[in-house]
Amino acid sequence: MSALPAPLVDGFGRRITYLRISVTDRCDLRCRYCMSEAMHFLPRSAIMTLEEIAAIADAFIARGVTRIRLTGGEPLVRRGMPELAAMIGRRIGDGLDELTLTTNGTRLADHARALRDAGLRRVNVSLDSRDPDRFRHITRTGDVAQVLAGIRAARDAGLRIKINMVALKGLNEDEIAPMLEWCGGEGHDLTLIETMPLGQVEEDRTDRYLPLDGVRSMLEDRYTLVPSAERTGGPARYYRVGEFGNRVGFITPLTENFCAGCNRVRLTVSGELYLCLGADAKVDLRQAYRDGGHAGLDAALDRAMAIKPLRHAFEIAGGAEPAVARHMSVTGG
Ligand code: SAM
Ligand code: SF4
Repeated sequence: MSALPAPLVDGFGRRITYLRISVTDRCDLRCRYCMSEAMHFLPRSAIMTLEEIAAIADAFIARGVTRIRLTGGEPLVRRGMPELAAMIGRRIGDGLDELTLTTNGTRLADHARALRDAGLRRVNVSLDSRDPDRFRHITRTGDVAQVLAGIRAARDAGLRIKINMVALKGLNEDEIAPMLEWCGGEGHDLTLIETMPLGQVEEDRTDRYLPLDGVRSMLEDRYTLVPSAERTGGPARYYRVGEFGNRVGFITPLTENFCAGCNRVRLTVSGELYLCLGADAKVDLRQAYRDGGHAGLDAALDRAMAIKPLRHAFEIAGGAEPAVARHMSVTGG
């Protein structure tokens, strides 16, 4: 009998069980903290086929990855996304525990049913404001009504929804408490995120940086937040909201480092595996697969584990360069 493939364990003894896959670096929005107005996207020749992505996902599952999240860019702008979700979704119950998606929601109404059929049970939808003018300002082009319709369609299709909201000083900070109340009424969880220094954008992120420790105190003054031991496989720390019964999570890369418990790696659409969102260490999995098939991939995963950094190097200070040159949309947020 052949030995089982070895689980993925990095040089610091952390077991890697979570893979995020950026299925495209393109997007139909241009959120100010995420992208510059004139982004350059990868040429089509540089992006992996859906079959290559599914093969790499399989290799990870064989090495003990139990959770996969599809993201981008905006994953739902990639043609064939529901088919890719179905390909990977076939592994649910056969090594994979969960397949999820992070989306801006603009095309969710069209795809919610197919995603549910592919095996997804929950999706994260980014929504930084429910006010149409503000939403348009933050995303530069977006129509919030489309996103809200997408969220309703997803719920009707039987998907649980978590709202992701990047906390932006002077832009949406007064909407955080109302967003939590709205989420409570709709039965959604809410995750608040600190803006991270990834890639050059037109604005200085320092101007918009809102530390979440202060936001949590503000919410604790208004609501009963009970710390929850529940985790969803990510770095968010959750609290149950007594008044509404939903949960609020805080992703705090700047104010509270969470790298010690890191369980994840990120695959770009051109096949580079980044070992940390906030560092440049990577291996080229597409090349490894093209040169050596599954055995080549396996060897590349071992090389990857050896170079995963201990922690990110994020810093938000006036005029500081971004920690890494690539945008969140490339590595997959
Ligand atoms: N387009 C999809 C979306 O917006 O949900 C998926 C990709 S997006 C890069 C994933 C998440 O990253 C979103 O919730 C977005 O708000 C967040 N994000 C993007 N750039 C960020 C940054 N510089 N700092 C913090 N969060 C960021
Ligand atoms: Fe697009 Fe998501 Fe980045 Fe906004 S946060 S520009 S929706 S990839």
